[in-house]
Amino acid sequence: MRGAAEDMEDVFDKRIAPILEKAMGEISDWPYFRALTPKGPGEVTVEGRPSVMAGCNDYLGLACDPRVTEAAAEAVRRYGASCSGSRSLNGTMVLHEELEHRIAAFLERPAALVTTTGFQANLMLTALLERGDTVFSDMSNHASLVDAVRLSPAARRRYRHRDLDHLERLLSAAGPDTAKLIVTDGLFSMEGDVCPLPGLGTLARRHGARLVVDGAHDIGLLGERGRGVAEHFGLMDAVDLQTGTLSKCFGSLGGFVAGPEHIVRFLRYTARPFVFTAAMSPASAAAALAALTVIETEPDRRQRVFNHAERLHNGLRALGYTTSPSVTPVVPVHIGDELLCLRAWQELLDHGVYTNAVIPPGVPSHRSLIRVTAQATHTEEQITRILDAFAAVGRLLRLVPRGAPDDYE
Ligand code: PMP
Repeated sequence: MRGAAEDMEDVFDKRIAPILEKAMGEISDWPYFRALTPKGPGEVTVEGRPSVMAGCNDYLGLACDPRVTEAAAEAVRRYGASCSGSRSLNGTMVLHEELEHRIAAFLERPAALVTTTGFQANLMLTALLERGDTVFSDMSNHASLVDAVRLSPAARRRYRHRDLDHLERLLSAAGPDTAKLIVTDGLFSMEGDVCPLPGLGTLARRHGARLVVDGAHDIGLLGERGRGVAEHFGLMDAVDLQTGTLSKCFGSLGGFVAGPEHIVRFLRYTARPFVFTAAMSPASAAAALAALTVIETEPDRRQRVFNHAERLHNGLRALGYTTSPSVTPVVPVHIGDELLCLRAWQELLDHGVYTNAVIPPGVPSHRSLIRVTAQATHTEEQITRILDAFAAVGRLLRLVPRGAPDDYE
């Protein structure tokens, strides 16, 4: 195609990561981009194969809740399938306004703005950052926070995961002449651990920094009323700006930022990832509204998902696996080697359990893990099936120490 230019550099001269290329040659059952179909609470088919769903973010089991799906269907009939434009021009509907009021009230923030995805909500932080500012970012933060910082002109300092001493050293070194922003996930998406909010709040105050928490995984789940890590620690005021997603606990699609009125207004008019993209669809907004009502009125869902999480953590540890020290519905099962992780995923699927195989860039190299998630709608029997599969696969692939017990209860 390129004729005479064949011996010249070509931007299309690209390959995916070598580890993926190697694994594709060796793993027959590939863990990524598989077509899934929900088949009732906690069940899914993977291209026709029935499995327990143990790898998703629908922690409260709301994506297929009839109240949520009906609200989405009704919104499509009433408002159409798309808003066909940016929020600032023709894309705002009463559903967005209502959702913004409801989210602000739920999170006890003066104002909120809803976005088309959670990734976009975090990218909007670029609008806050100027040359000369400094951002302090946990090394395990989600890619959307990482990219927000990279796209901004601010200086970037990464602190070791949850390491407050390291953060304090970096804050002190930055000195008083730079405006500072600390950004962190609330509940870390792969490790399942929680940010050290009390310490972050203290450091932010001491060094005059603002604190942004991405509540993608914890809003709806943590805290007595589901208001995330800030409520979990009883520190609603420690967080200056809250971001989040509607694609996990809310069983929908979309994101939000919530915080001071003037900042939300500023972002509404200046954040390019918000201004120059289409509004979240009417179906997504209506589904999120219906889910929020469930989150506000059915606290027992949080109890159920945490009970299942505890059984999974205890059972996996009893089998000899290493999980995370914190018990949350995101249960990482540490494997280490990339190929072994992909094989474990494959064997688990053969044993009727769908999980997430997380390899670089999702985690650092040689820190691959199987991500297992609990859902409020799982039954005890489904949790038993997950643990039985891990018991069998652990023995088969020697993932657990020799002599580890077969029994997990
Ligand atoms: N933040 C975190 C911590 C996430 O895990 C994710 C999604 N995996 C996002 C933001 C992005 O959310 P969304 O999928 O709505 O774009």
